[in-house]
Amino acid sequence: MSAATLLRDVFGFDAFRPGQQEIVEAVTMGENTLAIMPTGGGKSLCFQLPALVRDGVTVVISPLIALMRDQVRGLKEAGVEAGALTSGNTEEETAEVWEALERGSLRLLYMAPERLASGGVPQMLRRVGVSLIAVDEAHCVSQWGHDFRPDYLRIGELRQYLDVPLAAFTATADAETRDEIVRKLFDGQPPKVFLRGFDRPNIHLAFAAKDSPRAQILNFAAARKGQSGIVYCGTRAKTESLARALGEAGHLATHYHGGMEAEARRVTERRFQQEDGLIVVATVAFGMGIDKPDIRWVAHADLPKSIEAYYQEIGRAGRDGAPAETLTLFGPDDIRYRRQQIDEGLAPPERRAADHARLNGLLGLCEALTCRRQTLLSYFGEDPAPCGHCDLCDKPAEVFDGTTPVRMALSAALRTEEWFGAGHLIDILLGADTEKIRQRGHDSLPTYGVGKEYDKRQWQAIFRQMMGHDLMRPDPERHGALRMTDKARPILRGEEGITLRKDTIRAARGTGPKVR
Ligand code: ADP
Ligand code: ZN
Repeated sequence: MSAATLLRDVFGFDAFRPGQQEIVEAVTMGENTLAIMPTGGGKSLCFQLPALVRDGVTVVISPLIALMRDQVRGLKEAGVEAGALTSGNTEEETAEVWEALERGSLRLLYMAPERLASGGVPQMLRRVGVSLIAVDEAHCVSQWGHDFRPDYLRIGELRQYLDVPLAAFTATADAETRDEIVRKLFDGQPPKVFLRGFDRPNIHLAFAAKDSPRAQILNFAAARKGQSGIVYCGTRAKTESLARALGEAGHLATHYHGGMEAEARRVTERRFQQEDGLIVVATVAFGMGIDKPDIRWVAHADLPKSIEAYYQEIGRAGRDGAPAETLTLFGPDDIRYRRQQIDEGLAPPERRAADHARLNGLLGLCEALTCRRQTLLSYFGEDPAPCGHCDLCDKPAEVFDGTTPVRMALSAALRTEEWFGAGHLIDILLGADTEKIRQRGHDSLPTYGVGKEYDKRQWQAIFRQMMGHDLMRPDPERHGALRMTDKARPILRGEEGITLRKDTIRAARGTGPKVR
């Protein structure tokens, strides 16, 4: 199976996180590697996935017993044979692991470093055919660090004895520690080092509420005429119509999606690679194989499906290090569509919850009040200063206390038993005189007409932000009616307030708002 297939089918991720793909490729190829990644960055995938591609068993050495057990459980749930040899094992568990090893069916063997000291372990490992050693928390080999583990010093010997590649991972390694890791784990022979943090400082980040999407994309492209760019769209049909519109506006533009003939796709890929200033309007099918260093911009006409997918897609811009720009459009329909995709997918419930969380990560970025890059990188475990190179650093968001309108909106939803979508709820808040309202007697609700301080577009922006903050979610079993989430309760109860962005409301209206 290919790495992309394993990523999706076994691990349930739709894209690599920053840095993962390069590491996975190197480790799979059997190169000695040292990867320095922030905590939470997704190190484990970088040895778990190669372990499934390579023959034989991968030995994972980690000092953290709870974490090992956790990973073994996760792998087993995903249908991967994995086991751990730790001091916390019952005899039964240990016997089971040995058996699986002897049978040759184990793919990953987690081991505490102390195990290397017990007699016969290296010999046993040689006998069962180890193909890779992965070392988590590799800085534990450093005698000068706080986390020194004497048994880590045996790992280098083990590598030589087994004569297999070694992949070392750590979140904390200054230059000295790094040198020490290379000396002690790799016998001084430099491994391939992956140190790149997640930041791509040459890429300018910007988001905009979807207002008139076609015009927004045309404007963005017009300001970058003659530059190579990609526009990502949610549907195949849209790639074709938008490419046509760009062509009519005088750009060199073409479309690309998975429904095209293989040959037509190849031609487009080649053209993009070779021609200057071509715009490709595409679905996410476009990109995996693209290795063009001078893509100057990437725009999303529709919201990507997760923060990982977003990062991967914008990351195609500016690989040459020269300035590159991005724009991502988002609106309530996008949020509804992405939620629905997750809810209607075939994934098991835990995975769906994780997918919602990854979508939330992206929505949080859409509705961010301060530096986008800070918000993005903190999701990936980094903690940078404001970047000075995103739309919110360029021009800080204007905000207002949204607690009162949010409470009004929540209450309108609750008083109608959470059976309605934003359109009807807004009508109630505005005190509109519609058939639906009269029929259902919603004009006698206490929330009827309490929201006249805002107009319809402002309310739409407030509802979008509420969905972006995951205070309300469309319920697929109620035709997308908005239902309150647990996150909204403290706001409804008056225990917490919420700050909303004013500028997206203003942008939606085009004139100054009544929002105070
Ligand atoms: P660490 O680098 O701290 O060891 P983990 O490997 O535990 O991090 O991963 C941190 C989290 O990131 C986990 O919840 C994992 O499920 C998630 N994760 C890892 N890779 C991806 C990916 N490609 N897409 C989405 N989530 C991912
Ligand atoms: Zn910034």
